[in-house]
Amino acid sequence: MKKQAKSLMKIKFLLPIGFLVLFFLLIFGVIFSLLFLFSSDKESGEGMGGIDGNALVNENIERMRPLFEKYAKLHGIPDQVELLMAIAMQESGGRHLDVMQSSESIGLPPNGIIRPERSIDVGVKYFSQMLQQANGDTKLALQAYNFGGGFIDYAMNNGGKYTLEVAEAFSSMQADKLGWESYGDTSYVSNVMRYMSGINTNPEFDGEWAYPVKNPVITSEYGMRSDPFTGEQTMHSGLDFDCDISDSIYSVGDGTVEQAVNFHVSYGNYVMVKHNDNDYSLYAHMSSLNVNEGDEVKVGQQLGVCGTTGNSTGTHLHLEYLVDGQKKDPALKLNSEDD
Ligand SMILES: [Zn+2]
Repeated sequence: MKKQAKSLMKIKFLLPIGFLVLFFLLIFGVIFSLLFLFSSDKESGEGMGGIDGNALVNENIERMRPLFEKYAKLHGIPDQVELLMAIAMQESGGRHLDVMQSSESIGLPPNGIIRPERSIDVGVKYFSQMLQQANGDTKLALQAYNFGGGFIDYAMNNGGKYTLEVAEAFSSMQADKLGWESYGDTSYVSNVMRYMSGINTNPEFDGEWAYPVKNPVITSEYGMRSDPFTGEQTMHSGLDFDCDISDSIYSVGDGTVEQAVNFHVSYGNYVMVKHNDNDYSLYAHMSSLNVNEGDEVKVGQQLGVCGTTGNSTGTHLHLEYLVDGQKKDPALKLNSEDD
């Protein structure tokens, strides 16, 4: 009798403790999974990270990302979300209701649009039209977003592409015509692009050069190969890396941008960087470029975005290594010597 009472007391005492332990385990489980979700969200590089080619925008603009995605898709430029957010960053920083300062493009006075969603709809549509008129030349379309569509015709008749000189000439011509002191922002392209230059803060090295893409996978080596178009044996003068349409292309080392060219017949949109030891690296077939000729670049700095422009059968990066005008195997620079 006495014994039974004792074990009953034990059960009465132990049961609530068991429930309490279970309860705490549940709470900890929830907290840990939330923490995990939060940290993996941060690692995806969204927000202020600027990694993976994301625009370096503030919280105001980042919060409106779903709207940029919605209207970029609606107006046929779903791959331009980051650039559109960079434009909004330059136009308002999210501090005005007319986020993209797009009211003038539909004949309203400045800040005539008072709903952010309406501003994004109108601004994205306008940029999409500029991009189409400019045959996909991002910089030309950007400058036209600031100057108006007339700039595209002017640039087409004066060299056929965007340059700072053409922008300055157009600006002073318009100012003269209108009797204004100045016209537009001649630095608009670089003002927007500064929100676009992602930096790979952790570039991957094996040899002297860092890899130009994250998670490098080589799809075609330097040397003789059968031509993807004709099937004939030809010289492949670079190294091909697998990449997707929105992936960032990074500089393999410190240097100066020697060439930043759009629409080359075989290289497409490409960048050539001169490194301090007089070696050159060249990055071909990009969808858009983030740098201009003369820019100083650091290792891991974004040069452009992966694409398939020029003589290319699918999205990839074609990397070349040049010494004294001679093309050599980039693997010599990318791999350590004892490999
Ligand atoms: Zn190639």
